[in-house]
Amino acid sequence: MKLLEDKNVIITGASRGIGMGIAQVFADHGANVAFTYSSSEAPALELEKELKAKGVNAKAYKSNAANFQEAEELVAKVLVDFGGRIDVLINNAGITKDNLLMRMSEADFDAVIDINLKSVFNMTKAVQRTLLKQRSGSIINMSSVVGVKGNAGQTNYAASKAGMIGFTKSVALELGSRNIRCNAIAPGFIETEMTDKLDEKTVQSWRDGIPLKRGGSPEDIANACLYFASDLSSYVTGQVLNVDGGMLT
Ligand code: NAP
Repeated sequence: MKLLEDKNVIITGASRGIGMGIAQVFADHGANVAFTYSSSEAPALELEKELKAKGVNAKAYKSNAANFQEAEELVAKVLVDFGGRIDVLINNAGITKDNLLMRMSEADFDAVIDINLKSVFNMTKAVQRTLLKQRSGSIINMSSVVGVKGNAGQTNYAASKAGMIGFTKSVALELGSRNIRCNAIAPGFIETEMTDKLDEKTVQSWRDGIPLKRGGSPEDIANACLYFASDLSSYVTGQVLNVDGGMLT
């Protein structure tokens, strides 16, 4: 059963990792996928081809989610390219610049807040008018277990991800009466390029500490997004779903 037939979806940061996994699963469910990247042009164009081969409309856009003007321009282009409708927005683009607070530079704090949190404001503002006119829409924000629990060495990242949760709940309260839903996903340890940078011993110790005894895959997160994007969750808004193999339990 296809759950997203003919729905138009925007995903930020889908040139790799979790975003790419979401784009693939959504296209399998019949969604048309507009997605962004920051610098990985070749993999983005490759993904565009792959999605189109599944029989859906797909397009890659180079757009810096942290830039308000670029977000506005992106949504204007998507509306033209995808027939004037946006059903789902997934704010997935994100970065880490980890350091102990004592060593963290102002630039690294600002960059993480701008790309992870300000981007959510930028993109949600940019789609809001369209969703209000439609009187429908689902916004999904990619937070993190770190935003729920905190993490030493990640004050910037944890603050950005906790901020996304407050933003999510506030949007759910503001726009619920217009049938616009907004939820967040808090992934635990998902094995992607973002985590490939870590040494194997650390990674194995994390796996051992997870009740389900493995790291998650982009597909695990994509399946949770599928629920929030589809009508299966039509009475669910303002929620944070931990997709973490039981890590926070
Ligand atoms: P990733 O593999 O590093 O991919 C990040 C994606 O974001 C890439 O497509 C990248 O584009 C894009 N991006 C970066 N800066 C951008 C910007 N300024 N504007 C637009 N796009 C930008 O990361 P991931 O592991 O898939 O993580 C995806 C999301 O899940 C992030 O928000 C992350 O914080 C969150 N998350 C991840 C984990 C995990 O364990 N992996 C856990 C919890 C939460 P380029 O390829 O062009 O650089």
